[in-house]
Amino acid sequence: MTTTTGFVYRFRDGNAGMRDLLGGKGANLCEMARLGLPIPPGFVVSTDGFREFARLDQRLPDGLWQEVQEALKEVEEAAGKRFGDRDNPLLVSVRSGSKFSMPGMMDTILNLGLNDETVEGLAKAANDRRFALDTYRRFIQLFAKVALHVDADADADAKRFEAVLNEARAKAGAASDADLSEADLEGVIRQFKEIASTGTEPFPTDTRDQLRIAIRAVFESWTSARAIDYRNHEHISHDLGTAVSIMAMVFGNTGPRSGTGVCFTRNPSTGERALFGEYLLNAQGEDVVSGSRTPKPISELKSEMPAPYDDLVGHAKNLENHFRDAQDIEFTIEDGRLFILQTRSGKRTAMADVRTAVEMVAEGLISRDEALLRVPANKLSHLLSPRFDDESKERAQKAGRLLGKGLNASPGAATGVVAIDGDDAERYGKSAILVRAETSADDMPAILKAGAVLTSRGGSTSHAAVVTRGLGKPAVVGLSTIHVDTQRGEFSVDGTVLKTGDAISIDGFTGEVFSGTIDTIPADISSNDNLRQLLEWADAARRLEIRANADTPGDAARARSFGAHGIGLCRTEHMFFQEERLLHIREVLMGTRSEDAEAADGTYEKALKSLEEYQTSDFRGILEAMDGLPVVIRLLDAPLHEFLPPIEGLIEDLAIAHATNKPEAEVREAEDLLEAARSLAETNPMLGHRGSRLGITKSDIYEMQVRAIFRATKELIDAGKDPQPEIMLPLVMGEAEVKSLKAGLTELAKGLGEDLGRPARIRFGTMIEVPRAALAAGAIAPHVDFFSFGSNDLTQMTFGFSRDDAEEKFLREYVETGILSRNPFATIDEKGVGRLIEIAVKEGRKGNASLELGLCGEHGGDPLSVDFCHRVGLDYVSCSAPRVAVARLAAAQAAIGQTERDV
Ligand code: PEP
Ligand code: MG
Repeated sequence: MTTTTGFVYRFRDGNAGMRDLLGGKGANLCEMARLGLPIPPGFVVSTDGFREFARLDQRLPDGLWQEVQEALKEVEEAAGKRFGDRDNPLLVSVRSGSKFSMPGMMDTILNLGLNDETVEGLAKAANDRRFALDTYRRFIQLFAKVALHVDADADADAKRFEAVLNEARAKAGAASDADLSEADLEGVIRQFKEIASTGTEPFPTDTRDQLRIAIRAVFESWTSARAIDYRNHEHISHDLGTAVSIMAMVFGNTGPRSGTGVCFTRNPSTGERALFGEYLLNAQGEDVVSGSRTPKPISELKSEMPAPYDDLVGHAKNLENHFRDAQDIEFTIEDGRLFILQTRSGKRTAMADVRTAVEMVAEGLISRDEALLRVPANKLSHLLSPRFDDESKERAQKAGRLLGKGLNASPGAATGVVAIDGDDAERYGKSAILVRAETSADDMPAILKAGAVLTSRGGSTSHAAVVTRGLGKPAVVGLSTIHVDTQRGEFSVDGTVLKTGDAISIDGFTGEVFSGTIDTIPADISSNDNLRQLLEWADAARRLEIRANADTPGDAARARSFGAHGIGLCRTEHMFFQEERLLHIREVLMGTRSEDAEAADGTYEKALKSLEEYQTSDFRGILEAMDGLPVVIRLLDAPLHEFLPPIEGLIEDLAIAHATNKPEAEVREAEDLLEAARSLAETNPMLGHRGSRLGITKSDIYEMQVRAIFRATKELIDAGKDPQPEIMLPLVMGEAEVKSLKAGLTELAKGLGEDLGRPARIRFGTMIEVPRAALAAGAIAPHVDFFSFGSNDLTQMTFGFSRDDAEEKFLREYVETGILSRNPFATIDEKGVGRLIEIAVKEGRKGNASLELGLCGEHGGDPLSVDFCHRVGLDYVSCSAPRVAVARLAAAQAAIGQTERDV
């Protein structure tokens, strides 16, 4: 009987399109069954079953168990073995799998169906008692951990199962588990059972009970803390649930003609089109992924087992062609016969993503649009991960700081401090380089927090390697010369000991590991031909223009080399922070113009004049770097406290002046300074005397800046250049304010403009970053050439969340608990802030049909926000230079219409 309406689907009943219901793993197993690939017989319990299980408070729904038993009968028939049979028992794997791959985050149980009796049947059938015992001990260990929660949270060194195995190996003088004898394994099993008996319920000896409990445990693993953390990190919906795939076991541990491995149809680090992977003989899959034994490269399988190797190559090619994407395939060879256990789109680095997408277009496998959609836009920022400065690295090498060379598992260079456990990673955050013997899913929270990972064991498909590649964090794995001591919080290599907090550097491009720090330099994307090609296609596909936020000529030039079409925001306040300039801006902010205009050469005037000189040269540099392209220069906008001397310091200065009997003039000066600082101090500077408000009350500063813009423009025109400055007012709140500021500046500009020697008028616009301005956009628009949405302030003011404090104080919890689905300072909140933008766009355009519209808050480099900007009809987004490539691709994806939203 076939059941397609209930909770259970035979492999032949499903297909690759049923990921929602069967999970990615289940759906692909069905697809492979349809394609006639050698997969063991099995079936899938659907996510409907999970949802019902969750609704019933973690109870398996009525009928589900019945359906499982019926499907199991068919598996028994196909495999020619019976579940629980004493002579030739069928064993099954019970695997988790949701719509989106969550590698290692949920649980799987293998070798299920063994007890003291069936293990002897397995021994007889396989004619190999050692193999049967080895399989039994694996089952007890995994089942106890996953279903009975034994030592689930223990640190690797404290795990009792590991300790028993270590002891058995040591006693037997065995290099690996494969060298343990039957008698050794019997001892191990005895001890394993004792440990398992300390679990949350007795270890079930009835194989049907085992299966029922295992299905429940796999369902429960959807809501484990690490799975929830991972979904939060990857923005995967918690409602999807997991399916459970149940499949007849095939064994890679039946002897030297058996083995297991993982292979990628293209190199997951570089994207090179060549079979890449690893395998172990006489082993089960967990041995490869856990990194507990270092596997061999797949190319060696060709000589060790030519026939299964050739089969694998053929199937891999077919699977890639069928799915039209690079595949990550798990396989097992049982007594010389190949089985495919899983295929999925391979997790890979950004570099591999780009190369695979571009080459697959050339190979005729996918279209350009598909290639553009294949690369997650955010991941392009990984390509900009810095690399080590060659000279600095050479110095480190000469100084004897090279500790060794492991496998270059995930590219990027990281300099940071040693972190041995999760607490260290929490403490040091991004600067932590997590050093472990090997990693497992339990280490996920620490890996998410740390900046990079180093392990002493494992190959390039080990947990640490796969996970860090997906996250874009540098990793070196399998540096076998290091010894990690978790108890002492340190690791040693050839006599050198590095403790938690010591400086360390790892090179994920080469696998080198150094003690101490090494200088890093930004990545050079211009040399990546595939990326250039992909971005060219993106430019052809997108409608949004991409500009950059830049405040220095260097940043402007870099942004231009990344493909920015002009500058959307030049924050002039950043230009005043150098010491001498800070002094002058303080003099201007705290002083006043001389009463006698004729004698206008007092401190205030001099300071203003000096600032004008600095600004002229600043603007000239930036305009020159962006020659021919628009440069939006925003007039000063800074909370005043950023410029004023700290009041406590001034009080101290005054006290010292008094105490040391300084001359009266000096004491008065100190008093005046304190008085001036106090009068400008604000309780809430972010909502205070900022932006255009300062322009209104202290017009000298904006006038000085406009003069500097005109002077810089003129100098460049005279030098034969084509400067395109645009002037922007920050933090405006309405029409009258804009009109007032514009009137003053236009008057000034008129005089200056005549000097320019060309008819062009300098374009004039405002930021829209105060909710009132968004609502009054229709009235403001006729007075300006452009609006640029300051989504940072607009978010701050719409939510009433302080930009400076909210994220640290409470926003994280809001996001983790689902009160907010995302951090609104990172991704535009469409329901609130987005609505204000929509109103301003609509009413602004009504007020001024030729109004140009952009956005220049941090959201300009966030793919989901770029998609919003596209949909709402903006003309451009402006983002920091390193995110320009991300924004170019995101804008193309928005135009193609398939930006990936919350999943
Ligand atoms: C903004 O508020 O979005 C903006 C770009 O201005 P700033 O971040 O400088 O306040
Ligand atoms: Mg702002």
